[in-house]
Formats: sequence, C-alpha cells, structure tokens
Amino acid sequence: MQGERQKIVIAGGGITGLAAAYYLQKEAKEKGMALDVKLIEASHRLGGKIQTITRDGFVIERGPDSFLARKQSASRLAKEAGMEKELVRNTTGKSFVLARQRLFPMPGGSIMGIPTQIAPFITTGLFSPAGKARAAADFVLPRSNPSHDQSLGAFFRRRLGDEVVDNLIDPLLSGIYAGDIDQLSLMATFPQFYQVEQKYRSLILGMKKSTGSQPKQAANGKSKEGMFLTFKSGLQSLVDALENKLEPGTVLKGHRIESIKKTGRSYTIEMNGGENLQADCMVMAVPHHALCSIFSGWGLFEQFKDMPSTSVATVALAFPEEAIERDIDGTGFVVSRHSDFTITACTWTHKKWPHSTPKGKVLLRCYVGKAGDEAVVDLSDDQIVKVVLDDLNKTMNIKMIPDFVYVTRWKDSMPQYTVGHKERVGLAKKQAQEKLPGIFLAGSSFEGLGVPDCIDQAEEAVRNTVEYLKSNKQKAVRV
Ligand SMILES: Cc1cc2nc3c(=O)[nH]c(=O)nc-3n(C[C@H](O)[C@H](O)[C@H](O)COP(=O)(O)OP(=O)(O)OC[C@H]3O[C@@H](n4cnc5c(N)ncnc54)[C@H](O)[C@@H]3O)c2cc1C
Repeated sequence: MQGERQKIVIAGGGITGLAAAYYLQKEAKEKGMALDVKLIEASHRLGGKIQTITRDGFVIERGPDSFLARKQSASRLAKEAGMEKELVRNTTGKSFVLARQRLFPMPGGSIMGIPTQIAPFITTGLFSPAGKARAAADFVLPRSNPSHDQSLGAFFRRRLGDEVVDNLIDPLLSGIYAGDIDQLSLMATFPQFYQVEQKYRSLILGMKKSTGSQPKQAANGKSKEGMFLTFKSGLQSLVDALENKLEPGTVLKGHRIESIKKTGRSYTIEMNGGENLQADCMVMAVPHHALCSIFSGWGLFEQFKDMPSTSVATVALAFPEEAIERDIDGTGFVVSRHSDFTITACTWTHKKWPHSTPKGKVLLRCYVGKAGDEAVVDLSDDQIVKVVLDDLNKTMNIKMIPDFVYVTRWKDSMPQYTVGHKERVGLAKKQAQEKLPGIFLAGSSFEGLGVPDCIDQAEEAVRNTVEYLKSNKQKAVRV
C-alpha cells in the first residue's frame, strides 16, 4: 500500500546520488522492501561533474575523463547498468613531466612518482645529482611519527627531498585534487604511502615490494597496461544508463533543496519554489558547501564551513592532424611545481583515448587552475584559450587555430582534503548520527573524490539506509 512505503530522499544527482538511488531501488526489489525513493537535483541534468559532449565524431569530456580500473565499484556499476561492453581501457604511451621548459619522460619504474627502479632514476635529467642523492636518504631515514596526520608535502619532502616532490610527486598527486601538496592530508588522500613507510621504513624499497605485480612505468617511460577505463560514448553514457534504470518518477530535476526540518521521526525537505517533501531517511550526496547551507540553522557541520574547494577549468581543443608540427610520442604531460606555465597538465586525448577522435584529427585537453592559482579560471574563454595555446606552443609548435574549443569552468569544484580531514569527516558523521538519525553523508567532499570512491560511498550509504529503515520498522511494530 502506498501509505506504508518508507520514503527516502537522495539529495544531489551527481554520480554519488545516482549510484545511491540505483542501489537502493535494487536492494528494495531484492529484499521486497516497500520504498519510495526520490532523487532531487538542483540543475536540469544528472551527472554533476560528469559531462560529455559528442560532436563531429569526437567524444569530449568536460569534467572527469575516466576512472581508475583497479577500484572496482565503477566497473561493477557499469555492469549493473548494462554498460560493460562499452568500457574501454586507455592506450598506454609515454608520459612526461614539463620542467625547466623541457619535457622529461616519466622516470621508468616510478609508481605515483615514487622511484622503484634505481637505473632510470639515476639517468633521468629531471633531477639534479644533489636531488637524486637527497632522495636516496629514504633508504636510511627512520619512520615518521605515527601519532598524527601530516601533509603529503611534509611526508614526501622528509623522505625524498624537495626536488623529487616539486618535479614529480607534486604534479602527479596534487594534480588529482588540484591542491597544494603542502596542505593536503596524507591520511585522507594517500594513506597507503604512510602504511608502506610504517611497514618497510624505506618508501622506495616498500613500494617495490608491495606493488610487485602492479602496472608501473616501464624503463622506456611507457606504462605496461592502461590503468584507466571510460565508455566509448563517454562517462555521461553511464549517467544516462543509470537514469534509465531508475523507476519512473524517481528523479526531480531543477529542484534545489533549501533547508531541512525535523518533524517527529521524519524530515521535511524544503525546496526552491516552496515545494516540500517528506522523508524517513536521506542520503546527502551534495558538496560540503551545499550541505552547510542546507543545515545552516542546525549548528552542525561547522567543520566544513572553512573547507576550501579549488576552481579549475578544462580546455578541449580540436585540430586537424597537420596543425601539430612537432608531434610527441606520448599521451600527455604534467607540469612541475616551479614552472612559469599556466596549464597544469595536458592530455593528448587522441592518443590516450583513440575512440574519442576521428581519423585525421587531434584532440588536446588541458587543465588550468590549482590551489593558490585560480584567477585564470575567471578569464574569458578567448583569454584562457590564448594562455593555453601559448603554453602548448612552447613544446609542440601548433601552427593553426583550433577547429573548435570547449572551455569548461568548474568553480569551487575540487574539495580540498587538508590535514585533519579524516577527523573532521568522522566528527560530521557522528554529529549526523546523533542529531540527524537516518541522514547519511556521501560524495566527493568526504571520503574520496574519484568516481569509484564516490560510488563506494553511495554503496555504504545504501547499506546504512537499509539497516536504519529495518530497525525503524521494527521499532514501529513494537510500538
Ligand atoms: C575537471 C575535473 C576532472 C576530474 N577528473 C576525474 C577523473 O578523471 N577521474 C575521477 O575518478 N574523478 C575525477 N574528478 C572528480 C569526480 O569527477 C568528482 O569527484 C565526482 O564526479 C563527484 O561526484 P558527486 O556526485 O559526489 O558530486 P557532484 O558531481 O558535484 O554532484 C553533486 C550534485 O548535487 C547537486 N546539488 C548541489 N546542491 C544541491 C541542492 N541544494 N539541492 C539539490 N541538488 C544539489 C549539484 O547540482 C550536483 O549535480 C574530476 C573532477 C573535476 C571537476
């Protein structure tokens, strides 16, 4: 009966909210639970930061372009959505670091910038002899103090020295968060490095031992196997497939949640336009600044009020093949910390993802904007494109104007997990459990911002929701 259905509202229709809605309805079907699930999205489309343009045979990602294959929740969700056959793995190729106006091949044997083979590290021109000698101190340095969190920068600088951090580790790791390596939390971003240090003491020896069979940069600078996956028609196709799997009437687009009130055991959700909804349980899959605003009257989640988010922009440029006079054998580069380039990375998308580009064409995708250097994102499209082309021309000799360009600004989009982030999230979850029973937090502001991390959090929120609803029902029966 309609009246007996338990009502669940999911706030935010990015990948986290979508995955939560999908798994909740699946669970309800399998367990015979009578649930009424609503997914509320402020904008007029689902997917949040996932957005694909298809045009003239090109597949262009405005936001994320792929996900890490070894984190399996995304491939699992793809299978659920009937998209398994659409998955494609990236082509392997040389990748580079741009430093001192030159492209250096990524040193062979490095894993996330950490050397695991001695010869390619000794022979690379990326570091000075003094920088290499300093990195070798890792073999003898003691473990770091395990009692508190520290910044990624502090951890790696202590082990491997500034030069390796600024030229290799920073561009790779902080690029993922568009963050400042000296502010980002080790424990909230890459706790595995801390664990390796604690277990083996030396990071270099530990990474070598603990990742024996993982794909890494081969001695020629090429990866052995592609580490990333996407879909032939882009990541948006997963969003569309999931939306189609949801029961009719689940999704409410163009509805912004303004505030939430507690009424007895349930919640009243107030939306723009004055419409209200009731819920027994909620998954909050919105960014932390939206969470703070929705619960502003509650005196909760104060710890997220000052949590920064960085603004970035992606710039996709399509050219005819002949426009590139100096072609480079590789799939892209990241930019070293102390360089006078504005772009932070560039992917030669037509080489890394050949399905994305028609024959005879070239597709480049560049990033601008990082913590402490975000003003570029506010320039006009024309100004951003000029800055990007000027930078690219320092390495590539592009002699024609692009066929077309897409500049996509992502304002305040990259949540910064600064030192102490895990404790702050733990506190927020505890507060929610005590003051807002039945409300669960998930998504990129909390426990990982990669697409698979968001899906993992959605799955956990669904498990918590189902458990909560079951215990609620049992209490109601007893009453
Ligand atoms: C440029 C860029 C490149 C990236 N590259 C990669 C990559 O290659 N691989 C990877 O794994 N990850 C990448 N990421 C990270 C990843 O894309 C995101 O972390 C992830 O998509 C976030 O999903 P989400 O559902 O948690 O949040 P979002 O996608 O931000 O979705 C949140 C949704 O909530 C809605 N909302 C907000 N407030 C309200 C409200 N009050 N009421 C209702 N709805 C509301 C928003 O409109 C939005 O749709 C990238 C991110 C960016 C910006």
